[in-house]
Amino acid sequence: MKLIARRRDEQQETTAVRVGDVIIGGPELVVVAGPCAIESYEQLLSTALEIKRLGATMLRGGAYKPRTSPYSFRGKGELGLEMLSRIKELTGLPVVTEVMDARDIERIADVADMFQIGSRNMQNYTLLSELGKTKRPVLLKRGLAATLEEWIYAAEYIMSEGNDQVVLCERGIRTFETYTRNTVDITAIPALKELTHLPVFLDPSHGTGRWSLVSPVALAGVAAGADGLMIEVHPQPELALSDGKQSLNFEHFADLMDKLSPVAKAVGRKLI
Ligand code: PEP
Ligand code: MN
Repeated sequence: MKLIARRRDEQQETTAVRVGDVIIGGPELVVVAGPCAIESYEQLLSTALEIKRLGATMLRGGAYKPRTSPYSFRGKGELGLEMLSRIKELTGLPVVTEVMDARDIERIADVADMFQIGSRNMQNYTLLSELGKTKRPVLLKRGLAATLEEWIYAAEYIMSEGNDQVVLCERGIRTFETYTRNTVDITAIPALKELTHLPVFLDPSHGTGRWSLVSPVALAGVAAGADGLMIEVHPQPELALSDGKQSLNFEHFADLMDKLSPVAKAVGRKLI
């Protein structure tokens, strides 16, 4: 049986995924930015205002965080969702946030314009099927050691329930290299474009684990055809409760946005 996600021969056009007013998979390069985790109202608001001013069109921020250690900060939960909701209203930015548990879907759906499935849940098939029933867009991150085939099947779990609003997000895979947190598979971007009709994102923050590498790898992803980027930004990365080492401060994010424009243009994309 031919998978829905794979029907590139029947559907040449990239599927347009609509998140609020933002269209992913069209001529515009979409930049999603924000903190790894929602820590406080002030932290999220200052970040949202700044990334919007600099040209990002969607806000990210985790309220439920998957952490390697159960003793690390695991997010503000419902309180975080409330902050996200207020800041979404204030800034008009559509928001994406992670869902880890099917029991939280309704609560998160009240706020989120897009669900994020994190790497650790890429093969949580019951969760994927539940999201398929919601018809809400899903940002499906690549599993820590998932092949493209496994990743496409994960998308199929969502799509086979009737939800075709799926964006695939490359975020690096586990290899023998230890200098970087993960190894970014740039090839995955054009390969997925060959194999599927879904939009493809790149998250160079988790991909590299080092803020100094985020911009150059982001540019490479756009040159390779990514439909969008997801970038972690924090007002004071050195004080972040999660992923500070890979988060850009406002100045570094501004610098990335400056560099992005000519690269996007060179590959026929525009930044809003
Ligand atoms: C995140 O986006 O903060 C995150 C936890 O990502 P990943 O699932 O790719 O590790
Ligand atoms: Mn993170």
